[in-house]
Amino acid sequence: MDALIVGGGLAGLYCGRELARRGITFQILEASDGVGGRVRTDTVDGFRLDRGLQNYLSSYPEGRRVLDYAALDLRPFDRALGVWFGGKMHRLAAPTDEPLTALKSAFGPIGSLADKLAAAKLAAGVRGVPDEAADESTLEFLKAHGIGPRMLDRLFRPFLSAVFLERELSTSARFFRFVFRLFAEGRPSLPAGGMQAIPDQLAAALPPGSLRLNTAVSEISGTTVALATGERLTAKAVVVATDGPAAVGLCGGAIPPVRSNATATLYYAADAPPWAEPMLLLDGEGRGPVTAVAVPSAVAPGYAPAGQSLVAASVVGMPAEGDDELDRACRGQLSGWFGPAVGGWRLLRVYRIRHALPHHPAGALTPWERSVRVRAGVYVCGDHRDQGSINGAMTSGRRAAEAVAADLSR
Ligand SMILES: Cc1cc2nc3c(=O)[nH]c(=O)nc-3n(C[C@H](O)[C@H](O)[C@H](O)COP(=O)(O)OP(=O)(O)OC[C@H]3O[C@@H](n4cnc5c(N)ncnc54)[C@H](O)[C@@H]3O)c2cc1C
Repeated sequence: MDALIVGGGLAGLYCGRELARRGITFQILEASDGVGGRVRTDTVDGFRLDRGLQNYLSSYPEGRRVLDYAALDLRPFDRALGVWFGGKMHRLAAPTDEPLTALKSAFGPIGSLADKLAAAKLAAGVRGVPDEAADESTLEFLKAHGIGPRMLDRLFRPFLSAVFLERELSTSARFFRFVFRLFAEGRPSLPAGGMQAIPDQLAAALPPGSLRLNTAVSEISGTTVALATGERLTAKAVVVATDGPAAVGLCGGAIPPVRSNATATLYYAADAPPWAEPMLLLDGEGRGPVTAVAVPSAVAPGYAPAGQSLVAASVVGMPAEGDDELDRACRGQLSGWFGPAVGGWRLLRVYRIRHALPHHPAGALTPWERSVRVRAGVYVCGDHRDQGSINGAMTSGRRAAEAVAADLSR
């Protein structure tokens, strides 16, 4: 055995695929009962529930190269956004996509006219900001680019907190610019069969016998891993492809600590969709607890049984309340948006994900790609090594495979 990969999330699966392409033998050791890590989908009463509201951006460079988009049957969200503010929903669209909507919203309450001009200038100019520019927080960057408090709190904060999973917008502006460009170039999408289709596609291309599920690694010493069962396995290389906090533990503190952004998603079954468009709706009033709402079945109909709709409510951070109390608070807020029908929705499941994304404060993404070498024979990949996203996880998996291949060929 040339290599052992600890973790069968996107980073570990993609690392395996890249090793296989180079003729390097490996086994993936995955603690849970399936592949995908944070990108998994459960089926509950015929509904497809991704483990937390999420989407795939079709412009992700790494995925574009290797994923078979046609087989994933990607269903796009609208690029327009709905913002709940002042007792009604406002539909916002980029002038390039929908000039008439953009013109109408120029005089709406989601920011002053000056804010809207600043936002248009930002959208046009963000490509020109060099990546090596001194980093700052996204909040500082937006303010420096003329976005005033109205547009900040009614649009940018709810939208970006749904992306970064933190409300302070302390995330690196470098990451904001990267994501902003990708949103302009592609569409947020859902595979028709659920987000799990992405890791399943990567896993299907692995050599037979290269994946062991229900196999937790408890320790790594040299290039030997100890399993929770006491079994020990040795290879020429060990790649740690777990989430950041687990990687810090397995690498014995040889990589810097990883702080996490948390989130919760409540999924509801509804007899009718609260709105028909495949569009994300944002809380522009900042009252919470729900920051963003989506109807996955309006994007990809297979997410709900015929004649029903799936509604996903996303809460940023780890709510202190129990599920019943959280459900009551979310329904209270959403009844204000959609009326009494919300009372008839059926709660399907609540997902709470403590480590949903690694937090990337200003400066943390310099260098953009952090080293994947831990010590002789030991490597690390995962979104915390690149950027907290599907693209970041995949990129890090490829980089780890390249490092293993280079070192084994010496
Ligand atoms: C709710 C939510 C919403 C998100 N939204 C988006 C989005 O819209 N777009 C986007 O691009 N990204 C999104 N992300 C982020 C994205 O899902 C992650 O960045 C990416 O999936 C991380 O992949 P990974 O392989 O690095 O880690 P993981 O997916 O965490 O995989 C690590 C694997 O290691 C396994 N493991 C851990 N410890 C051990 C051990 N000791 N032994 C063996 N195995 C172990 C775990 O079981 C897991 O399978 C979201 C994440 C969440 C949770």
